[in-house]
Amino acid sequence: MPPLIGISCSVDDEEKRLKLNSSYLQGIEEAGGVPVLLAGKEETARAVVARVDGVLLSGGVDVDPRYFGEEPHQALGEVSPARDAFELALAKEALRLGVPVFGICRGAQVMAVAGGGSLYQDLPSQRAQSMQHYQRGPRSWQSHAVSVVERTRLAAICGGQAELRVNSFHHQAVRSLPPGWVTAATAPDGVIEAFEDPGHPYWLAVQWHPEALYPQDSAARALFFAFVQFAQEVSSHAR
Ligand code: MN
Repeated sequence: MPPLIGISCSVDDEEKRLKLNSSYLQGIEEAGGVPVLLAGKEETARAVVARVDGVLLSGGVDVDPRYFGEEPHQALGEVSPARDAFELALAKEALRLGVPVFGICRGAQVMAVAGGGSLYQDLPSQRAQSMQHYQRGPRSWQSHAVSVVERTRLAAICGGQAELRVNSFHHQAVRSLPPGWVTAATAPDGVIEAFEDPGHPYWLAVQWHPEALYPQDSAARALFFAFVQFAQEVSSHAR
């Protein structure tokens, strides 16, 4: 049976609407997974995690800094309280149960915070030497390089490519990772662009948007295929 992959959505608290860029869904489908969209209360998050074979945490607005013990910086962007609560509960439960998780952009930030890490609330003002990480160009434009760290899951997925070109639509970034987690890619300015938890069955996050580079970019394609393949193996062992 193809693996069931839960995908988190944007939650518009004011308009009572859920939103998801359909390219996340297509990425999972292309790779052979069955996507299901996830949203709701924290209790729902905890109840649904064990029923899917993997979770894709999608991109979106800023993570509320209260979750890493800070007050809002003046350059903090839009936040979504309902989405923060749902996704953090989802990520913490997936971390505890060993459910495979692939995080993209905001998803990476949610994963880091769920594990006890911290974020830059705004790169341009908190890390003055940073390059431009919020590109002004099409979503498929690969604006900057990243160096892949050897002997990581990401390196294996990318077939040993030492450098990738990626798109970049973030002004937040991971500042510190929880103990034991490893950086899997960095931008030329040192910003963490991918990380993993080697102690978890599958816990990989990227700061860029592979769903928008799909299918022309081989690394983006490989990221979706590796994740769905892993979820498939876990799923078939469990049944
Ligand atoms: Mn970037």
